[in-house]
Amino acid sequence: MEAATDLSLIAYGDVVAGCERCALAQTRTQVVFGSGSPDAELMFVGEAPGFHEDKQGVPFVGAAGKLLGTLLEGIGMSRDDVYVSNVLKCRPPGNRDPQPEEIQACEGHLFRQIELIRPTLVATLGNFATKLLSGKPTGITQVHGREQEVVLGGNAVTLYPIFHPAAALYTPRMLQVLEADFARIPELLGRAAPEPPIAAPAPERALEPAEQLNLF
Ligand code: URA
Repeated sequence: MEAATDLSLIAYGDVVAGCERCALAQTRTQVVFGSGSPDAELMFVGEAPGFHEDKQGVPFVGAAGKLLGTLLEGIGMSRDDVYVSNVLKCRPPGNRDPQPEEIQACEGHLFRQIELIRPTLVATLGNFATKLLSGKPTGITQVHGREQEVVLGGNAVTLYPIFHPAAALYTPRMLQVLEADFARIPELLGRAAPEPPIAAPAPERALEPAEQLNLF
């Protein structure tokens, strides 16, 4: 991504910092815009900031965030390689579920982020992000681990619904499912943005017929 787009994301974050589109503006400590690489190929979208995120202004810094980091490490990636955001940019009091009017008020911020970051793969963590970005009411239990092609922020994107890490914190079976779904991320990244083919060096001698057939 060009520096101009990085600046656009920072500038947009500055605008959103003063957002008063819904009543959560009255109870939040601060807006939690998003964190990570502005030119990430892979973007995660969670639900909403919790207690720690509201205090620190960074998404996924609590126990679920720690697990997200561990899962990323397991596939050879780190938080610096990805961009992490949420459906809601402000903490709902007491960590209650996001309300439809809050999602509606906030969704423009998420779509603009996606438009600026232009990820090729968007992994939705849990029900709220999955339903919003798929535009379908089907819950995460049915669609987790099944990628779908969608258009987000004006770009073709592979949407990859997976369970929210918080759901796996105390449930070993859920953690196994999450790990299995995470394990497919490198393949999906490769599929979404295929590497340009490396030009084969010209052979120094004429190929034998068997070589021409790629038999060895
Ligand atoms: N859960 C979320 O969905 N988002 C956060 O930022 C933290 C916990």
